[in-house]
Amino acid sequence: MMIVMHNDATDEQINLVVARVETLGMHAHLSRGTERTVIGVVGDGRKIEPAQLSFLAGVDHIVPISRPYKLASREFSPSDTVFPLDGVSIGGNGIVIIAGPCSVENRNQFLETAQAVREAGAHALRGGLFKPRTSPYSFQGLGEQGLELLCEARELTGMPIITEVMSPDHVALVKQYADVLQIGARNMQNYALLHAAGEGHHPVLLKRGMSATIEELLMSAEYILSHGNRRVILAERGIRTFETATRNTTDINAVPVLKSLTHLPVIVDPSHSTGHWEYVGAVARAAIAAGADGLIVEVHPRPEEALSDGAQSLKPERFAEMVKQVEAIAQAVGRKLAVRESHVDQPLVSVSQVPAGLDR
Ligand code: PEP
Ligand code: MN
Repeated sequence: MMIVMHNDATDEQINLVVARVETLGMHAHLSRGTERTVIGVVGDGRKIEPAQLSFLAGVDHIVPISRPYKLASREFSPSDTVFPLDGVSIGGNGIVIIAGPCSVENRNQFLETAQAVREAGAHALRGGLFKPRTSPYSFQGLGEQGLELLCEARELTGMPIITEVMSPDHVALVKQYADVLQIGARNMQNYALLHAAGEGHHPVLLKRGMSATIEELLMSAEYILSHGNRRVILAERGIRTFETATRNTTDINAVPVLKSLTHLPVIVDPSHSTGHWEYVGAVARAAIAAGADGLIVEVHPRPEEALSDGAQSLKPERFAEMVKQVEAIAQAVGRKLAVRESHVDQPLVSVSQVPAGLDR
């Protein structure tokens, strides 16, 4: 349930309501809006009767939340969640583009891609170190030894970094190097991982499991939110269907459905959802037309040499073309590309000027 406080409720009244909720064995999640303060009450709802709270000073009314996810629901927060990520607003009117290689393979490949995507207009850089590969014989990623490269790419380009965590043990370490933790499709229901990512306030990019329903995705987001972390970005990355012409099927429906069910930002991954670079641009445009708040796209300077997901990776020049087309679609639906507030004037250094470090 949700406790809506009076407009003029005092901090003391709000604190007393929170304390009462906690005494009743439930958790209180405070959301201070410009117009009203709302306290989300989560936990085992059988323990509590609305009447036990509705008479407390400062309480305006109580709204039951009928959906199984509470904090993720639009009912809990009618306005969109927007949060800053290193000078870029995630979830606002601006479309955010995250791009980079599937895997960080070596220093040159990563830094070259980082600069190319930044020049093309990307707002954030992706690059996997801990790779969830279907085959144990495929490249598993550089792992911990690649962490410093994330920092180097951030310093070089000024872009925030997104990388995947596969186990709860990675979370504390990766937080020291990356700005956003990615939880991949295969781990969407790894509850220990969701719990670990829910501690603290590091933004989390949560990808939809390939066989997960929209409701299951939102329940997974609820795990993160209920542990206190409000900075969750949802990603539609394609689901399994009978179709074999593409790697997965982009569930475009998921975009307007999620935008209606939740206040969390929703982005689309046209790379994994199609599996073929030729289709990435069209699906990226469709995603923005459908109302997505951003995109995450795989880019590789030499896709034929990529150690993972080369077939779906755009070359930098094709990515640059995609960004222009996406910008046009954004304008057509009353949006624009997000503006990078910080580092805008930071000069680009060419990769050749970067002193050699870890290279393979
Ligand atoms: C990835 O982003 O490289 C990845 C493995 O994605 P997903 O979890 O969506 O398969
Ligand atoms: Mn990939």
